Amino acid sequence: MKREYHIEMTREALGEHFSERALQVIIKANINQDRLAGMFFHDEFHFDNNAFDKGYRYMNEQRGYVLATFIGTGVSPIVAWQAFGRLLHSAQDFYAHSNYVTLWLDEQTASSSSGEIEPLKKDILQSPKLHSGKVYFPLDLMYYILPIRPLVMKVLPKDSHGWMNLDSPEQGFKFDYAIRAAVKRTKHEFEILQKLLTPEMMAKFMDKQ
Ligand SMILES: [Zn+2]
Repeated sequence: MKREYHIEMTREALGEHFSERALQVIIKANINQDRLAGMFFHDEFHFDNNAFDKGYRYMNEQRGYVLATFIGTGVSPIVAWQAFGRLLHSAQDFYAHSNYVTLWLDEQTASSSSGEIEPLKKDILQSPKLHSGKVYFPLDLMYYILPIRPLVMKVLPKDSHGWMNLDSPEQGFKFDYAIRAAVKRTKHEFEILQKLLTPEMMAKFMDKQ
């Protein structure tokens, strides 16, 4: 997703929980995953190329860093905020780069609003139909050069990142569903840590003592 949406979603989901300085570190680490060096060959950062297992493993790893920060003594909470920011980037991109939203909408009998989307429906997460956009070189790189995008789209396969992404509102109505799902998922990731950390650790994590 575009950087502005990662920022908006993270603030909406977590603004009430963290101090401003903690939030700023979390957001910086989140959007830093889209730096040029992180854009390609890091499918786990963005759930590209059907790298679901790799993506989940990466998120677990980052969660581990958060826990380790508070189990050890004298480790700055900044380390935990950065790891949490990296974790959230993957969690949020999952809905923009996979067909989760499409599969969820397919299951709805009546028309359902974006606010109703459930971010972790087990049958969808385990469905063989779940897939994410493949990155085709060099076309998916050329996709980012706006004047030639219409031309690039003509030759890009339909299962490409270019065709599948819900990174911005220009991608159509499903973008809003991706945003709502990602905000809910962000809150969910916070709640997981709330269960894992003691209240004292949590106070340090939220930087609200
Ligand atoms: Zn990304």
